[in-house]
Amino acid sequence: MENLEKFKYIIGKYYGYPDCCIKSFDLNKKKLKHNAFFGSGFVPCSDCFSKDISQLICNINLNRLCSIPFNLNSKISIYSIISDLENNFHIPKEYKDILINGLKNQL
Ligand SMILES: [Zn+2]
Repeated sequence: MENLEKFKYIIGKYYGYPDCCIKSFDLNKKKLKHNAFFGSGFVPCSDCFSKDISQLICNINLNRLCSIPFNLNSKISIYSIISDLENNFHIPKEYKDILINGLKNQL
């Protein structure tokens, strides 16, 4: 897996997004502009798009490594995420390195 692809996959896992949505993120980002998740950072795939929204949010939070819960109204800053990564002991070290480096490149 190329570095950027690896980063995108791992950050998707960190946020608790389903694999199907992580894989189709780039494609669906362009396609699905108006949906309940718009602006949240999460882009549902076409299957998940038709699922119950509260169930989907519940599943995201169950699978989430990030200690800041997912909801539709709060945009989390990159600084808060980096601080979470530095202090969160549930995240494997190789994930942390890739995520912190990738996020710092976006600042
Ligand atoms: Zn999906």
